[in-house]
Amino acid sequence: MALTTTLPGPTTAQALEAILTGAETAAPIWAETTAEERASALHHVADRLDDAAERLIEVAHEETHLTGARLQGELKRTTFQLRLFAEMVAEGSHTDARIDYADPDWGMGPRPDIRRRLEPMGPVLVFAGSNFPFAFSVAGGDTSSALAAGCPVILKAHSGHPRLSAMTAAIVSGALEEAGAPAGVFSIIFGTESGRVALMDERVKASSFTGSIPGGRALLDIANARPEPIPFYGELGSVNPTFVTRKAAKARGEQIAHEFVDSYTLGAGQFCTKPGILLVPAASGMVESLADIQHPAPATLLNDRIQSGYVDALERLAQHPDVTPLVTASGAYDAPPAPTLMHTTAASVLADPQALIAECFGPAALVVSYYNESELLDVARVIDGQLTATIHGEEDDEIAPELIRLLSRKAGRLLWNQWPTGVSVTYAQHHGGPYPASTSSSSTSVGTAAIFRFLRPVAYQGMPQHLLPQELQDGNPLEISRRVNGVQQL
Ligand code: NAP
Repeated sequence: MALTTTLPGPTTAQALEAILTGAETAAPIWAETTAEERASALHHVADRLDDAAERLIEVAHEETHLTGARLQGELKRTTFQLRLFAEMVAEGSHTDARIDYADPDWGMGPRPDIRRRLEPMGPVLVFAGSNFPFAFSVAGGDTSSALAAGCPVILKAHSGHPRLSAMTAAIVSGALEEAGAPAGVFSIIFGTESGRVALMDERVKASSFTGSIPGGRALLDIANARPEPIPFYGELGSVNPTFVTRKAAKARGEQIAHEFVDSYTLGAGQFCTKPGILLVPAASGMVESLADIQHPAPATLLNDRIQSGYVDALERLAQHPDVTPLVTASGAYDAPPAPTLMHTTAASVLADPQALIAECFGPAALVVSYYNESELLDVARVIDGQLTATIHGEEDDEIAPELIRLLSRKAGRLLWNQWPTGVSVTYAQHHGGPYPASTSSSSTSVGTAAIFRFLRPVAYQGMPQHLLPQELQDGNPLEISRRVNGVQQL
C-alpha cells in the first residue's frame, strides 16, 4: 500500500456527515460479527502496522521529536495490545454472560428466567492523545478496545501528529477491509471543530479521550449536555505523588533520588504518569542528593502547544512565594527546556494545595520536604484524584497501612518501591482514577478491562432459546465462561 505523508486538512462538514452515516450503518454489522472474525481482523491490523513499522516510525519521529528507540518500543506495545484484545475477544469472557434459571423458590419470591450479556454500544468517537503517537493514538488502546468490543470507531486525530495519523489510519482501514470488516467501521477526522461536532452527533454512542484536564472537561460537558448524554471516558492529567518514608530514605535515599530523576525526566517528562511530586524527609540528605545528580540534556517537546503550556505551568510554580529552585539550568524555560527541580515544604503544600499540586507536563518536578512523617498522611488527604500514587517504604513502616488506605481512595494505581512511568498492558492493569485523573473513575484505558467501557448490559427475560444470543443459550454453544445461578462456570 502506498503511504501518503501529505498534511491532511480539516474534515469538511460533508465528509463528516458521510463518516457518521458510515459508522452508524457499520455498527449492527460489526456488532454481529463472530468473536473469531473480530479477533482475526485485529490480528491483521497488527500485522499490517508491523509491516509498515520503519516508515511509521520515521514520520512519527519527524512530527513528535520522540526518539526512534522509544517509538519502536511504543509501536511494539501497540501491536501487542491489538493482539491481546484479539485473544480476549476470542476467549469470550468480555461478554460477562450470566444465566439465572427460573426459580419458584427464590428468596424474594419466584424469579423468572433472566439472562444477561454485554453488548457493543455503537459508534465510538476516540480523541487521540499527543504524547503516545502510537499507543494512545490512531491504532492505540481506545481504538483496539472499541473495535474488539464490536463498536465502529471514528478517530479524531491529534493536531500534534497529523501526517502519522493519516498514515496509520490508512493502514488500519486497509487491513480491516482486507479482513472483511464492513465499510465505515473505522474512519479518521481532522480539526478541533470536527471533533466537537461529532461528539454532539446523536449517531455517536460513546467517546474516549486522552489529553489535558481543560480539554477533557470541555468535551465531557459537551457529552453530558447532549439531548442523549453519552459515556465520556476521559484520561486526563495527574501529578502522581511519590511518598518516601523516613526508613526508606535512611536505607536507600541516594538510590531513590537517582531513580526519581530517571523517572521524572523520562521522555522529557511528557508522561501522564510522570512522578511530579516527591515527598522526602527533611534532614535526610535526599534534597542534597537530588541537587547533585547530573540531569539529562534538554530534549525537544512534542509540539509548540506542549512547550508553551509547560513554560506557563513552570513559571506559575516558580513564582509561588514558598517555592525555591533546586536544580535549574539557565535553559529551563527555553525550547528545548532543561530539566528542572523545584523545592518546597509539606507545610506549604498543605497551605496551598491547589497551586502546588498541579501538573507541569514536561521535564519538571517538585520536591517536598516534610518534618513529621504524619505530614505524608495530611498530603495524601488533600490531593485530588490521581492516575498513580507511589510509596517508597520499608515493610515494617508503621505509616504504610494508613498511607495505602488513604491513597487507595485517591489513585487508580498504587505502587510500592517502583516507579509509575511505565504502564504495562495486562489483564490486571488499571489506568484511570478519580476526577481529575479521569472523568470516569470506574474504568481503565489500559489493559484488557478497557473493553468494558464500550459494552452495555442487556438482560433477556423469558426469551425462547432460539431467539437468545448464542452466549446465553442452553448447552453453552460458544463454550465460554458463564455465571449460572450465581456460580462461575469455566
Ligand atoms: P489536549 O490539548 O487536551 O488535546 C487532546 C485532544 O482533545 C486533541 O484532539 C484536541 O484537539 C482535543 N481538544 C482539546 N480541547 C478541546 C476542546 N475544547 N474542544 C474540542 N476538542 C478539544 O491535550 P494535549 O495537551 O495534547 O496532551 C497533554 C495532556 O494529556 C497532559 O495533561 C497529559 O497528562 C495528558 N495525558 C493523559 C494521559 C492519560 O492516560 N491520562 C495520557 C497522555 C497524556 P486538537 O488537537 O485539534 O487541538
